[in-house]
Amino acid sequence: MKIRRIEGATRMLGAPADWNGTDVPCDALPILDTETAEGHFMVSEWAPEATELNALQRGAPLRLWVRGTNHPVVALGVGETPEGIAGQRPYAEADANELRLELVLRAGPSYRCEHRECRAYHDRPDRFDRCPTCMRKGYLCGSFERETTSTHYLDWVARQISRYRKPAAEVANG
Ligand SMILES: [Zn+2]
Repeated sequence: MKIRRIEGATRMLGAPADWNGTDVPCDALPILDTETAEGHFMVSEWAPEATELNALQRGAPLRLWVRGTNHPVVALGVGETPEGIAGQRPYAEADANELRLELVLRAGPSYRCEHRECRAYHDRPDRFDRCPTCMRKGYLCGSFERETTSTHYLDWVARQISRYRKPAAEVANG
């Protein structure tokens, strides 16, 4: 999860004084102080990474970590939708590559190799209609049930991530 700056943030909370920071970093958290009928609340905003969004859509639960042994009253909710592509842009500060990656991950692979020794997922066939993994001809099929837990599917996800993250990193490094 990435920390987002909540609109109208009233304070910036830093790491506590006894936080070591060598194992797990504690980033500054912008919060919005809000009064409710049940007292004062501090609201922060978090944006899921593309891989986390993908996991959420496949039924993974959210986890809330609270430091200490006294649990304060907490609530998790969904904020407003930022304006964007077709009103579906998940977070305003996502760059174009990150957004494209997310759309690709949501859509899923277009083809699966139907050879029982291969079963690789691909976006398109190789030249001459071959499967890019096993090079067999005519096995790539467009209608299949996605096995999102299979190693072939996770391999496809990893390939998409490296494909969209690499150009972004190259731009960032000049
Ligand atoms: Zn194949």
